[in-house]
Amino acid sequence: MTPPLRHVTRRLACAAICLAPAAVSYAQNTSRQAPPVLDVHFHAMDDSGPTAVPMCPNTSRFTASDPATKEATNGWAQEECTPKLYPAAKGEYIKDVVADMERLNVTAVVFGTPESVRKWIDAAPGRVIPGTGFEAAGARVPLDQLRTSFAKDGFKVMGEIGLQYQGVSPSDMSVDQYFALAEELDIPVAIHMGTGGSGRSNVTRSTFRGSMGNPLLLEELLARHPKLRVQVMHAGYPMIDNMLTLLQANSHVYVDLAGLIWSYPLKEVNRYIERLVDGGFGDRVMFGTDQLVWPKLMAYSISIIQNADYLTPEQKRDILYNNAARFLRIDPKSAK
Ligand SMILES: [Zn+2]
Repeated sequence: MTPPLRHVTRRLACAAICLAPAAVSYAQNTSRQAPPVLDVHFHAMDDSGPTAVPMCPNTSRFTASDPATKEATNGWAQEECTPKLYPAAKGEYIKDVVADMERLNVTAVVFGTPESVRKWIDAAPGRVIPGTGFEAAGARVPLDQLRTSFAKDGFKVMGEIGLQYQGVSPSDMSVDQYFALAEELDIPVAIHMGTGGSGRSNVTRSTFRGSMGNPLLLEELLARHPKLRVQVMHAGYPMIDNMLTLLQANSHVYVDLAGLIWSYPLKEVNRYIERLVDGGFGDRVMFGTDQLVWPKLMAYSISIIQNADYLTPEQKRDILYNNAARFLRIDPKSAK
């Protein structure tokens, strides 16, 4: 999922602000009010942004548009809704989100530039698992710089990898060196696949290709790197058959529900999650929000899982925590 404000990127300049591995600890979560949640897909935004507007999650339909008119940048139908999610007041975004992370006992994999992620580590000590990708400000990050981030500076996940927005396959050889590095360092990779553009990729992202979100495009990459652990972000939505095919063919592949969980019609979202679980992959479905812009997005997204009447309490806990803990190799005892 990439709403308009999504990939806020700045050129990396790690040097003085790199993360010391010792700064990353997940053993400090002391909240006893809620069982722990792992959000594996969260963006290190500073603020909601000046152009952010209220949003209705799970709108019921996407609207057509006419190229002869001024076209909106997303296709979500204009509906009234409860709850409506609001951007944070200026300067309040991080504070508001951290308050909900504390209240809901959430630890998150936070993706962004090293500088932006560092800000979140400072704001939410013990609740941030740092992630960073190989693109920043529209350019590829030098391989040595990325190696330093993962080998020395404590970053744990390589992502978000948004090749689909450039119309590039994850198996394209032009990016193979990054995946080879991840395999060498035993770092999981998180790749955007499936969703994108909120119904208006044609208007906002001319290089986006739905076809490059096909989960089966990962097969060549996975064959080249048999030890690579892959998080298919957005669960390859809506290509369920191909997603299930890949999950059956490769036991190192997990999916996250981020973005799709709040940005498609609710009945369809639940049907998709149910297919993944009923297909036999309930231990590889991970919760995520795609947290950005709206501080209450996380609480809202968690409620979708909690209210899913087709999931057992054990399946809900697997999605909200256990599966991600296994994928990320987090000691379950480290979060209380
Ligand atoms: Zn994404």
